[in-house]
Amino acid sequence: MSNSSWPDWLPIRSNLTGMSAYGAPQLPVAVKLNTNENPFGLEKELVDKILTGIKEKSAALNRYPDRDANQLRALLANFINKLSNTKFDEHNIWAANGSNEIIQSIFLAFGGNGALGFEPSYSVHKIIAQVTNTPWYVVARNADFSLNIPEILAAITKSKPSITFVTTPNNPTGTASGIEELKQIAVQMKKVGGLLVVDEAYAEFSSHLSAATLINEFENVLVIRTMSKAFAFAGVRLGYLVANTQVINAMMIVRLPYHLSSLTQAAAQVALENADLLLGKVAQLRDARDKLITKLEQLGLTVAPTQANFILFTGFKNTSSQLWQGLVDKGVLIRDVGLPSYLRVSVGTEAENDKFISELTSLIK
Ligand SMILES: *Cc1c(COP(=O)(O)O)cnc(C)c1O
Repeated sequence: MSNSSWPDWLPIRSNLTGMSAYGAPQLPVAVKLNTNENPFGLEKELVDKILTGIKEKSAALNRYPDRDANQLRALLANFINKLSNTKFDEHNIWAANGSNEIIQSIFLAFGGNGALGFEPSYSVHKIIAQVTNTPWYVVARNADFSLNIPEILAAITKSKPSITFVTTPNNPTGTASGIEELKQIAVQMKKVGGLLVVDEAYAEFSSHLSAATLINEFENVLVIRTMSKAFAFAGVRLGYLVANTQVINAMMIVRLPYHLSSLTQAAAQVALENADLLLGKVAQLRDARDKLITKLEQLGLTVAPTQANFILFTGFKNTSSQLWQGLVDKGVLIRDVGLPSYLRVSVGTEAENDKFISELTSLIK
């Protein structure tokens, strides 16, 4: 969608006129390492179980779904409790069509006094701020992509945002923030009557403690998770929020009625009942990531320390867009994230990673 050619007759909101649609190019290439998906398809055993789950729901598709997805939310609470040793139940969980919808609902419910983010980070936070006409404040990350805590605390005092976003592990950098830093931000946000939203889309790949462990102590901490990345379930669109029950109650005010289809709920429930099968490749992907880092460093490139299933690298002489295009021409799609002299690659299968490294080697020589 071009962003400057809206016709006069179209009463598009003025805050949208300068915008273009979000999204990485979807190109028909052999090796697709651009959107941080899990590269492994579902095993047949699981496909069969999902089909059975969906079949059981299908005769009742004349009816609306469970509006509040209670069973699914209970399973999500169990999943988080197991991982993080917490005691949540379904009243601490909200589920939606991807964590992007969760982010949108957070803005609709709580964005009144503006939102603060730490860039470079996940650009959808800013885009939804613009779409919902919410003021967007930014504090730049340090040169090594860590959080600039003194500036962040000062910015919170000054702007008094109602929401602050921290993405950890951060996208597109892969770098993670420690729980002590998150606590400092939560305390400061509490002073201004605001919320700290921690986007943990890649938490299953990280060795850091989840911010879900803070929610009991800090009622203003919200944690966003997704089944799109480690869970190998991006096509289903299932994201969720872990938070204080009052936060969840507010999410119910802004959600659309029956937003989560019966089929989505059924598929996600089967996946959670078989979480070990779906998450089985996470350790393998972490090892593959570490191997890929070594190979990039052997090529003389510099890599941001990553806790996710992707790697941001720099140190090549070509421009980012030249190198990106060169790889596309060889059938390898990675991500130009708009950071000059950097590119981001998702960890793929062994064959995909090898192909990426060999094509990269020939292009940067
Ligand atoms: C991929 C990603 C999401 C979106 O995930 P969905 O659940 O598929 O909508 C959210 N946050 C971050 C940081 C991501 O990288």
